[in-house]
Amino acid sequence: MSLNQTLQGDRVQIALFGKRNAGKSSVINAITGQPVAIVSEVKGTTTDPVSKAMEILPLGPCMLIDTPGLDDEGELGKKRIERTVEVLNKTDLALLVTDITLADKTGMETDRGLGSEELEILKRIEEKKIPCIIVLNQADRLDGERTEEIRRQVSGKNPDNPVIVVSAEKKTGLEELKDAMIQQMPAADDRLHIIGDFIGEDDMILLVVPVDSAAPKGRLIMPQQQVIRDILDSHAAAVVCQVPQVAHMLDVLRDRVKIVVTDSQAFQEVSQIVPEEIFLTSFSILFARHKGNLQKLAQDVTVVNRLQDGDKILIAEGCTHHRQCDDIGTVKIPRWLKEHSGKELVIETCSGIHFPTDLSPYRLVIHCGGCTLHEREMRHRIFQAGGQGVPIVNYGIFIAYVNGILERSVKLFPEVYRQLNGDGGME
Ligand code: SF4
Repeated sequence: MSLNQTLQGDRVQIALFGKRNAGKSSVINAITGQPVAIVSEVKGTTTDPVSKAMEILPLGPCMLIDTPGLDDEGELGKKRIERTVEVLNKTDLALLVTDITLADKTGMETDRGLGSEELEILKRIEEKKIPCIIVLNQADRLDGERTEEIRRQVSGKNPDNPVIVVSAEKKTGLEELKDAMIQQMPAADDRLHIIGDFIGEDDMILLVVPVDSAAPKGRLIMPQQQVIRDILDSHAAAVVCQVPQVAHMLDVLRDRVKIVVTDSQAFQEVSQIVPEEIFLTSFSILFARHKGNLQKLAQDVTVVNRLQDGDKILIAEGCTHHRQCDDIGTVKIPRWLKEHSGKELVIETCSGIHFPTDLSPYRLVIHCGGCTLHEREMRHRIFQAGGQGVPIVNYGIFIAYVNGILERSVKLFPEVYRQLNGDGGME
């Protein structure tokens, strides 16, 4: 199995349901900013569920599933509806798309302002306890007061299903929709491996864990523990060593090592030892993908080349009292920032739940791997920064970038690697 194929199996599956011409395909295209499905004025253009693997900012790796209309007709139509219902078996997040102008005309006669086919699929979605967002499309065609009236009625008796008003055509309501998708997304812990989706049984992963004066006494830090557990859950083998043993371990294990995962701080040194043909990444980069959005974080990092004297940088950590990642945030990153930019910067730090609501004073946020934060919290922070136009990166990406080895460290993730190279490489 290729890396791409294995990756797809663990993507969050987002399926769009709705009647023919409700605008499902247009909503997909508006969310992703690119043409994914076939959009046509002709009713029923989407004849079979169409899946497309995508990295959606700020949601991360997703599989989008566009389904045929719930009101399809005839024998063939019946079969298509059956296939649509089957999609529910693999859906992590459902978007029920409805045309608000139809709700305006006829749907308001029902108790929730939805048609009978929509109520039927909503019942199945709720029975399966799948998180769901109801998307009222074509909002540009009604006035605000009427739109709000319909939104309230559709919200009906189940406030668990947010109702979001959008216009795929005019590109309105999309940020609110993406924010709702983040809130409704199942936790990564329930669906996404940290590294296990890249490894098979009996693979060997070499973990480089420096045990210096900065390391906590008698134990490993949480990201290291979680990666080891994920490797064991995949029935692969984790071999742990410190930097001075890396060359010897590679020699002893010869071509058995598939991936080397290193502590970010040892990235530079380890990259010079590990041959190019072996994947190399860091704990922090693994967590950027697992809990955040690796693609966005990797995109934003180039801002460190454009920093100016007096720019404010926020260094944020997920832990509260005892910073488990030691002095990396308070000492090392400020030093590397200064060395790389050559500028006099103002560094501020925050930790635990105290993440500022207003990020506008900052030129850049550098976040830790966030291993103690819930995935939604981490994604929300990334989304919040993006919404305020403030670049955000994490420790691993920042360190790899300033050491000139970011591209190598994301080679394991083909989409992110392609994106960096497709954009003409890094600055
Ligand atoms: S939450 Fe952040 S600072 Fe704390 S151990 Fe995890 S990665 Fe390190």
